[in-house]
Amino acid sequence: MAPIQKECDYLVIGGGSGGLASARRASGMYGAKTITIESQRLGGTCVNVGCVPKKITWNAATIAETIHEAKSYGFTVEQTKPFDWTTFKHKRDAYIKRLNGIYESNLHKDKVEYIHGRAHFLSPKSVEVKLDDGTLQNINAKKILIAVGGHPSIPDVPGAELGIDSDGFFELERQPKRVAIVGAGYIAVEMAGMFHHLGTETHLFIRQDKFLRSFDPMIQDKVLEEYERQGLHVHKRSSQQSVTDLGNGWKKLAYTDAGGKGELEIDCLLWAIGRAPEVEDLGLDKTGVKLDKKGHVPVDEYQNTNVDNIYALGDVCDRGFELTPVAIAAGRRLSDRLFGGQSSAKLEYDDIPSVVFAHPEVGTIGLTEPAAREKFGDENVKCYNTTFMDLYFTMMDADGKSPTNYKLVCVGKEEKVVGLHIMGLGSSEILQGFGVAIKMGATKKDFDRCVAIHPTSAEELVTLK
Ligand code: FAD
Ligand code: NDP
Repeated sequence: MAPIQKECDYLVIGGGSGGLASARRASGMYGAKTITIESQRLGGTCVNVGCVPKKITWNAATIAETIHEAKSYGFTVEQTKPFDWTTFKHKRDAYIKRLNGIYESNLHKDKVEYIHGRAHFLSPKSVEVKLDDGTLQNINAKKILIAVGGHPSIPDVPGAELGIDSDGFFELERQPKRVAIVGAGYIAVEMAGMFHHLGTETHLFIRQDKFLRSFDPMIQDKVLEEYERQGLHVHKRSSQQSVTDLGNGWKKLAYTDAGGKGELEIDCLLWAIGRAPEVEDLGLDKTGVKLDKKGHVPVDEYQNTNVDNIYALGDVCDRGFELTPVAIAAGRRLSDRLFGGQSSAKLEYDDIPSVVFAHPEVGTIGLTEPAAREKFGDENVKCYNTTFMDLYFTMMDADGKSPTNYKLVCVGKEEKVVGLHIMGLGSSEILQGFGVAIKMGATKKDFDRCVAIHPTSAEELVTLK
C-alpha cells in the first residue's frame, strides 16, 4: 500500500519537553498547521523517565529522612514494615500515565495533529513515519524541528548489559538490597541519594576524587563530605573490569578504586555516565544536517541547523544545559520567531539556574568561582561564603546534622553577582527567586537591601559578610 501523504507548515519530531512546547505554541497561539511525531510516550524523558518520576521518588526518600529525624522532635514513629517500593512504583506509574493523557489532550486543544510512530528523514523537506502497525506516512513540511532528545550511554565493560540505566531505574519492581551506581553527574548523585535514604546499601563509583565536577568546588567538596558522612560508599578513582551473573538477580562487579582491586556482589548495577543524542536512525544523512563529534546537532543561537528550515533544540543539541525548562523555553522562542513575527526571539543561554536533587539539595546559577576568576581576573572577583546549621537540625544529635553551605561570586567594584551556589534544605525552591535577581543584574548591595525573612536559611544570602 502506498504511504499516506500529508502536508504541514511545521513538523516537530519528538513529543518531549521541547517538541511539545514548540508545537503547541506554533499551532495554538499562531495557527500554524503543525504535526508532532512521537515514537514512545508523550512527554518525553522528563515526564516518563526523568524529572517527574525522579522528583516523586526524591520526595519518598525525603519522607524516609524525615521519619528518621522525627524522633529528634519527640515523635515515636514505629515502622512496622519496610518501605513498599512496589506499591509506590505502581502509584507513580499511574500518575505518569495520567500525565501522558493530559499531554495528548493538550495537543488536541491546541489543534496539533499527533502521530504516534518513528520518524526519519527522506529529504530536507520530507519525513517518513512508521506507525505501530507498520504502515507508512510521508509528510512534507515547510519547516521541521528536530527535538528527539537523547538516551543513556552504557560503557564498554564486559557484562555491562547486566546493568540498568536511568530508564531501568524507573522500571524496578522491587527495591534492591545493594546497588552499585557508576557515574559522577546529576543522575548518579541523585539516584545514589534516593537509594541510600530509602534503605538500599549504596555504592557510588566515580572516576576521579570528586563528583559533580562541573559545579563550584564548594559544592563538589561539601556534597561529597555529606554523602560520606551519611554512610554512602563512594569509590574514588575507580574503574570497572567486568560484571558477571550470579543468578537470582545478583551480579558480581569487579573493579579497581583508590584502595586497589575489589569485587562487590550487588542486586542492581546502574550506569549513569551521561547521555547521547538520539540521532542514530533519524536519516539525517538525507538532509545535509551536520553532526558534531559526539553526534549532537550543532545549532546557532536561534536554533538554526546548517540547513535552511531545519531547526533543533533540547538534549539533541549540545548547548551545555540538558534541562527541561531549557528545551521548553527554546521551543517557545523558536515558534515565536518562526510563526509569531518576533524575528529576534531566542533563548538566552546564560544564567540558567539548575538544581541537583541530592540529599541535601544543590542549586547553582551563573559562574563557578574558578570560571569567574578565569574570566575577570583574581583581583576583580570577591566571594562570600557561609556555612551554618539550619534551625531544623538544632534538635538533632551531632550525627544527624547536615550543614548548609552558600557561596556568592561577585565581580568588579559594584560587586555584580555572577554566581550563586547553594547546598542545603530547600535549595531547589530558594534558587528560583534569586535567579530572577541575578538575571536582572543584581549586585551584592541589592541583595543586602532586601530585608531578611527570619528565621529561614535563605536570609543568610541577604546578610552575607
Ligand atoms: P526529550 O524529552 O527526551 O524528548 C524527545 C522525544 O523524542 C522522546 O519522547 C523520544 O521518544 C522522541 N523521539 C526520539 N527519536 C524519535 C524519532 N525518530 N521519531 C519520533 N520520536 C522520536 N531536567 C530538569 O530540568 N530537571 C530535572 O529534575 C531533570 N531530571 C532528570 C532526570 C533524569 C533521570 C533524566 C534522564 C533527565 C532529567 N532531566 C531533568 C533532563 C530532561 O529530562 C531533559 O533535558 C529534557 O527531557 C529534554 O527535552 P527534549 O525535548 O530535548 O527531549
Ligand atoms: P552528566 O553529564 O551530568 O554526568 C555524567 C558524568 O559521569 C560525567 O560527567 C563523568 O564525570 C562521569 N562519567 C562519564 N563516563 C564515565 C565512565 N565511563 N565511568 C565512570 N564515570 C563516567 O550525565 P548524567 O547521565 O548524570 O545526566 C545527563 C543530563 O541529564 C545531565 O547533564 C543533566 O543536564 C540532566 N539531568 C538533570 C537533572 C536535574 O536538573 N536535576 C537530573 C538528572 C539529569 P567525571 O568526568 O567526573 O568522571
